[in-house]
Amino acid sequence: MRPHATPEEIDHICERIREFGYKVHSIQGEERVVIGVVGVGDVTACLESLEATPGVESAVRISAPYKFVSREFKKERSAIQVNGLEIGGGEFVVIAGPCSVESETQIMQTAETVAAAGARMLRGGAFKPRTSPYDFQGLELEGLKLLRKAKQATGLGILTEIMSDRDVDMVAEYADCLQVGARNMQNFALLKSLGACGRPVLLKRGMSSTIRELLMSAEYIVAHGNPNVILCERGIRTFETATRNTCDISAVPVLNELTHLPVILDPSHATGKRTLVPALSRAGVAVGADGLVVEVHPCPEKAVSDGAQSLTPNGFREMMRDLAPYINLWRESRLVSTPVN
Ligand code: PEP
Ligand code: MN
Repeated sequence: MRPHATPEEIDHICERIREFGYKVHSIQGEERVVIGVVGVGDVTACLESLEATPGVESAVRISAPYKFVSREFKKERSAIQVNGLEIGGGEFVVIAGPCSVESETQIMQTAETVAAAGARMLRGGAFKPRTSPYDFQGLELEGLKLLRKAKQATGLGILTEIMSDRDVDMVAEYADCLQVGARNMQNFALLKSLGACGRPVLLKRGMSSTIRELLMSAEYIVAHGNPNVILCERGIRTFETATRNTCDISAVPVLNELTHLPVILDPSHATGKRTLVPALSRAGVAVGADGLVVEVHPCPEKAVSDGAQSLTPNGFREMMRDLAPYINLWRESRLVSTPVN
């Protein structure tokens, strides 16, 4: 719509779209209202009619199969609010914490440590997707309660994993952002249920998924009513065995071309090895990620999951200190950068 289109003009357009047999699926806007139209019908006639209707600036056909998350739909980056923080805006956001919530002492200590070192959110799994059914599966509700305690003590927003559509209401009550893990990227029942969860979602790329599949999964969440999706590159499975996964660092700029959604990098799961995490984190800043999600444990050798890739408190402090000049450059470049067309 034109920048100053009136509510009557907008209502009229929505009515016209419905007359053509399409659904009005999404209306969003900071400076202007963008109306999403989906369905099957006479596209050319609808486009021509809309272009001739008062208040419309232009009517364009989106060629990408992922409509609402595409840059074609929205040229400006989307900044997503999480617990008063903006991801995808002018600040580089580091989310840190253990792989799993293990105990009150462990999560409280970690939260204090990472907050003091500059992390802006706390991560920690209460529901854990484990390869073996005999491994620690997470503290579940008790873990969520401990995360809430850590939030009360530090003010850090909580990122925690959701594994099943049955648990959405429970997890959404405690989490500021719900993480969909790599193994669930194409759990379509879960993705659909997140459309109405009322919280932002961090969607991790499946370990054998293409970028297009990642965007289609994001589209599921948005099409079901939740526009607040953050994408996460966490490494993919290749023939290489030197690292746990292969960090597809080019996924970050590729996604920045294809989508307006924020993109963050997980250097911990991408490498599987704590010594490699600082280098990959620098890479994430350099290629224009909007933030990082990093595993930190007060005593990695005692971690019940992912100890080898978890930074020690000291390691995290050092990494944050060393990242600071890179983040300053990132901030400057973000201020002058224009959206990709
Ligand atoms: C995690 O974040 O601890 C996790 C299980 O990640 P992923 O789904 O990327 O393997
Ligand atoms: Mn982990």
